[in-house]
Amino acid sequence: MPSEFELIARHFSRASPGARLGVGDDAALCTVSTGMELAVSTDMLLAGRHFLPDAEPEALGHKTLAVNLSDLAAMGARPRWALLAIALPEADEAWLSAFSQGFYALAGRYGVDLIGGDTTRGPLTLCVTILGEVEAGQALTRAGARPGDHVWVSGRLGGAALGLAQRQGRVGLDPPLAAACQQRLDRPEPRVALGRALRGLASAAIDLSDGLLADLGHILERSGVGAELEFARLPAEPALAADVPEDLARHCLLAGGDDYELIFTAPPAQEGAIAALAQRLGLPLTRIGRVVEGQALTVRDAQGRPLAIPARGYDHFADQNDNRSWPISRPGP
Ligand code: ADP
Ligand code: MG
Repeated sequence: MPSEFELIARHFSRASPGARLGVGDDAALCTVSTGMELAVSTDMLLAGRHFLPDAEPEALGHKTLAVNLSDLAAMGARPRWALLAIALPEADEAWLSAFSQGFYALAGRYGVDLIGGDTTRGPLTLCVTILGEVEAGQALTRAGARPGDHVWVSGRLGGAALGLAQRQGRVGLDPPLAAACQQRLDRPEPRVALGRALRGLASAAIDLSDGLLADLGHILERSGVGAELEFARLPAEPALAADVPEDLARHCLLAGGDDYELIFTAPPAQEGAIAALAQRLGLPLTRIGRVVEGQALTVRDAQGRPLAIPARGYDHFADQNDNRSWPISRPGP
């Protein structure tokens, strides 16, 4: 049986050129660049709650880091360093090797160094702390939305939730559409470049982890405003247009989590700049509604009638006594 230290040495000790001191001492040492603030976030993933216990470890390594990178993207920060705390039922080397490959592959693409962590025996739990830098005073927060601003979203919505529904046997999809949704669920792409570019353009931002209505709801609450969305404008994952029951499709679009797109608000004067940004990034950026006075979040159909909207999203504590059919899988509160 390998020791804890052998496991760390084998799987989590790659070079960390962006830090003064990385894995191996009592603490890591990092230098924050001049004029930058530190942006720090942490997210925990539990087997059986945020991912299926038999999840493919390489994809899990990717996703564990991706959800954290997504948080920094939503702040407009540049990711730099990560810490990884991991509880494992047993020292499964094949699992650790695949997990670490998925983790490091994504870290490498974003110039993130793994600089420390903790490794212990226990029910499979993964917790990443991510550290990044953002120009002092320029971070995007949830609090800046103003009446009159447009509401925007990146990418396509609902793919991850539909992928989960498919995996749970609640819907059948053609193989290519199914593969796209599984990709959305297992290998989300954090919108880091978009978040960086939104500094100075967006008035507020959040990443989409718990569902469009829930996450936009956080912006509205923190900003003290309401919003009106046009359902017909929502950029749906192509598979949702296929043979998916309407209530499931609507649920995936409005309340499906795990897409890790960015929702942001911006003054109307930024519309041209945002269109240009979408071109430059090769990423759809869609205007889906506007910020209004008050507190209400209304979704209107093509005739302008308000839709009856589903529960806003997933709350780990709100429904603990329910016998819910809601899917496993979402880093939440
Ligand atoms: P300590 O006893 O001081 O907590 P540990 O023995 O837990 O130190 O860890 C030894 C070194 O390995 C530390 O630098 C720690 O940050 C790092 N480390 C432990 N587990 C991980 C992991 N899963 N990923 C990355 N670094 C890790
Ligand atoms: Mg330790």
